[in-house]
Amino acid sequence: MKIFFLKTTLFLMFLTLFSCETKKQKAEPKAYKAGVILSFDDAYVDEWAEADAALKKYGWKATFNVCRIDSIGAPEIKKLLQMQKEGHEIAGHGYHHYNALKFVKQNGIDAYMKQEIDPMIVSMKKKSFKVTSFAYPYGERSDELDKALSKKFKIIRGRAFGGEAPEKQDSYFNNSKIVFAFDIDNSHIHFSIPYVLELLDYAKKNNKILLLCGHKPVRNVTENYQTKIETLEFICKYMKENNLKFYTLSDLDNLLPEN
Ligand SMILES: [Zn+2]
Repeated sequence: MKIFFLKTTLFLMFLTLFSCETKKQKAEPKAYKAGVILSFDDAYVDEWAEADAALKKYGWKATFNVCRIDSIGAPEIKKLLQMQKEGHEIAGHGYHHYNALKFVKQNGIDAYMKQEIDPMIVSMKKKSFKVTSFAYPYGERSDELDKALSKKFKIIRGRAFGGEAPEKQDSYFNNSKIVFAFDIDNSHIHFSIPYVLELLDYAKKNNKILLLCGHKPVRNVTENYQTKIETLEFICKYMKENNLKFYTLSDLDNLLPEN
């Protein structure tokens, strides 16, 4: 009996030691619920607020990546603050909306940070926006830029440009702070409802977080950079019926493996 007890204790100690060891060696990705990040770029505040009114019934949460913060009028700033209060994220999209790659090529990364990033953070913070994520204008990025911006932001979003099969799409969260979104504007060459449905199904079946982006939500499309509210309704309805979670960009920070 005593020997048996001793053996069991030793075995348990061994197990404990072993499990501590594996934890130390490898940061396990955290488990999370399948979901979607709906993000919108530029400064279409009035249309974002209209979309918010239409989609509130789904309990939706979105991320609005704002550029040219100092050109936005007081009533629109008020709307953005209200949306932040309701759980949407207000994130950065550049002080001037420069193409980061082109600007850095011509002026260097220090000038980029000084002219495009630092004044944006200062002004947004002054206006009470908790800016912790950034989306590249035109999705134009580089490893050098990712590295510099990593010091300022928790999550950095680019664009996934292709229309490949879902398992090859870059627009799913991949346990990295650099993420890519698929564009659901009506004018986007790879956009279609059946394809978005494929992307949503893949997220659901494989427990993934799908990242989507758009610009100006509208009822009727009249030009480029417009997302149909009908498209957004379709996505929200699917999410509700299939129990998918609404994430914001900065929510991903909590899901990153700890270093
Ligand atoms: Zn933009």
